[in-house]
Amino acid sequence: MLPGRGVRTKQLLMTDQPRKYAIIVDGDSLEEAVEETAHLLYLLLGRSLRAHRRDHTEECGFEEFALEALALLTKYRSAYSRELSVDASHTEV
Ligand SMILES: [Zn+2]
Repeated sequence: MLPGRGVRTKQLLMTDQPRKYAIIVDGDSLEEAVEETAHLLYLLLGRSLRAHRRDHTEECGFEEFALEALALLTKYRSAYSRELSVDASHTEV
């Protein structure tokens, strides 16, 4: 889509104590911002799903949402990604 562009750095600041997440999406265009956001959402949803499975035993619909969203992000990854090799986190879940 945008050949020749360098790999942009992703800024994802997370600390465990206290639980606070600050996410900065860095993009020079709406398209890039969407791509970054999608990658970050994938990463956070995967982590959240694992935490949810560990901590939350009652069915609440979150797992179904997370799995469907992850599947959707995976299915359309080539549509919103400029490069396929950048984000190794997509093999994480
Ligand atoms: Zn639940």
